[in-house]
Amino acid sequence: MISTAYLDVGQQPSGEPARIPVITIKGQEGGPSVYLQANVHGAEIQGNAVLERFLALCRQRPPKGHITLVPMANPIGINQKSGEFTLGRFDPISGDNWNRQYWFQPDIVAPFCQAHLTQDDNTITQAFRGLLQQQLEQRLASPWGVKTGQHLALRLQQMAVEADIVLDLHTGPISARHLYAPKYARERARRFNIPLTILMPSDFGGAMDEAAFSPWWQLSEQFARLGRAFGVQVDAFTLELGSQEKLDVAQAERDAAGIARYLEVMGCWPEGTHKVAPETLHACDLNDYRALYSPCAGQIEYLAPLGQPVPAGAPVARIWHYERLGRTDDLYTEVSLPCDAIPVLHFASANVQQGTELFKFLTHTQPL
Ligand SMILES: [Zn+2]
Repeated sequence: MISTAYLDVGQQPSGEPARIPVITIKGQEGGPSVYLQANVHGAEIQGNAVLERFLALCRQRPPKGHITLVPMANPIGINQKSGEFTLGRFDPISGDNWNRQYWFQPDIVAPFCQAHLTQDDNTITQAFRGLLQQQLEQRLASPWGVKTGQHLALRLQQMAVEADIVLDLHTGPISARHLYAPKYARERARRFNIPLTILMPSDFGGAMDEAAFSPWWQLSEQFARLGRAFGVQVDAFTLELGSQEKLDVAQAERDAAGIARYLEVMGCWPEGTHKVAPETLHACDLNDYRALYSPCAGQIEYLAPLGQPVPAGAPVARIWHYERLGRTDDLYTEVSLPCDAIPVLHFASANVQQGTELFKFLTHTQPL
């Protein structure tokens, strides 16, 4: 059974509500609770197409479990146009990244573990989820108020906290498809069939995937310190499904199948229901995911094809200095890397100042 509701996540100065669609797929009993959202960054529209294709798969073969889809999850960001472009990565008033405003206080974990050490897994799961819900409610009800971006994030997080599986769909600027996966879910991460993966630690930095997995992972780690085994109860990933300002429905269909294939191992469909053409999968640790900053200003020729390994010393970008036009030397600077790497994404503009983040690379890569 598929139904749509609308949720207010803010209010515009004109008094109009900032409103998001929430699509609920109520499948047969016995499956997980799954939450997917897209487009929290305004220019990153591809995830909406993936959700549309994913919903089509659900209509074709109804899944087990309870699935919530939130396309266009940031109605303020998507309307943040400047000239031809959509900005929508940062709140234009505060400058805060829309995807760093989720809420978790790690200091709740240790006292919770002490208080629940002898209880069974089910009781612990329910009690901890209740505690997380309570934290969000308290935060929203602060007598001092919360920022616009926090209000949006908290309303989204109230839905996500109910789920066993949270998938946040983004894109890079100009980008190859890549995935942020918590280390404990490495094996399952292969199922998405996304070629480049960054393996995440249990720290919380304010993003949705971390807000979903960090509490449960830190809970598991703290119980382990106290000598009690308690597995991580929630899977969460950020899927970066191409470039901003771009819609590719054919690729969206393939990525929707990858998501469904991952959800097969989580119990939504029988194994083998969805097919993908396998890709070569590379991974590295978050610490080895490196930015390359422009050594000087200029106009950039991006040379390294995204997703393809480049050896140390090979030029990845040529920075042109057209203010020197007329001279015969020093008209450009070539940039290379000190180690082998795989370019994941690059800056969206060819016109940069010194210190601009030109590229991001996987280094010290390994097969996923
Ligand atoms: Zn994003």
